[in-house]
Amino acid sequence: MNLIFMGPPGAGKGTQARQIAEKYGIPQLSTGDMLRAAVKAGTEIGKKAKAAMESGGLVTDDIVVGIIADRIAEPDCKKGFILDGFPRTVAQAKALDSMLKERALKIDHVIDITCDTEALVSRITGRSTCAKCGEGYHKEHKKPAKEGVCDKCGGALTTRADDNEETVRNRLTVYDQQTAPVIGHYRHAGAFKTVDGMQEMNTVFKTLCSIIG
Ligand code: AMP
Repeated sequence: MNLIFMGPPGAGKGTQARQIAEKYGIPQLSTGDMLRAAVKAGTEIGKKAKAAMESGGLVTDDIVVGIIADRIAEPDCKKGFILDGFPRTVAQAKALDSMLKERALKIDHVIDITCDTEALVSRITGRSTCAKCGEGYHKEHKKPAKEGVCDKCGGALTTRADDNEETVRNRLTVYDQQTAPVIGHYRHAGAFKTVDGMQEMNTVFKTLCSIIG
C-alpha cells in the first residue's frame, strides 16, 4: 500500500500519517522530519536545507528527490509507505512518477487533507510535539496535563523553529504557489480523494481508514 498525504501545513497530514503508519504497519516518510534530522546532525544536506527551512521556503527538488529515492529503496518500504510532505512541487511529482515506474511501483491513494487558512495559522502557532514519541499537543485544544511534558510517555515537548506566525504565512503562500498545482497532477490520475481536515481528528482518521480499506 503506497500512499501520498497532501495538504497545507497544519492540515493534520503528519499526525494522521503517523497513526495510519501504525495501524497499517508501513513507514511514514516525512521529508520535513528527515530534513530536520539532517539539519540537527549538521550533514551536508542539512547545511544546504537550513536557510530555506528557516524562512518557510522550499528546499531544492534535487535534495528532496534524492532523499526519497534512497528512502523508498530501504527494506521497510517493501510493504508500502506513506509520503508525508512530498511531492511539494510538480517537478517532484514527475520525478516520483519516474522513480516508481523504474521500480514497477504505483501509488494506491493520493489523499488531500483540506483546511481553512486561519485555522491552519492557529493550529501551527499553538502546536508542540513530544521529542520522544511524536505525540502532538496544542496550547488551547490539547493541553498536556503537565506543561511541557508528554501525557503518553513523559518526554519533553518541543516546538518547531518555523512554527512562528511570519514563517507560517510564508509557508502557506509557498503552498498555494508551488504545492497546490501538484493536486492537478494527481486529480485526473484516478486514485485522488479529498478529506475535510476541519473535522474532529478521530473523524478524519476514520475517513482515511475507510478510503484506504
Ligand atoms: P514540513 O515538516 O513538511 O512542514 O516541512 C518543513 C520544511 O521542510 C518545509 O517548510 C520546507 O522548507 C522543507 N521541506 C519539507 N518537505 C519538502 C519538500 N518535499 N520539498 C521542499 N522542501 C521541503
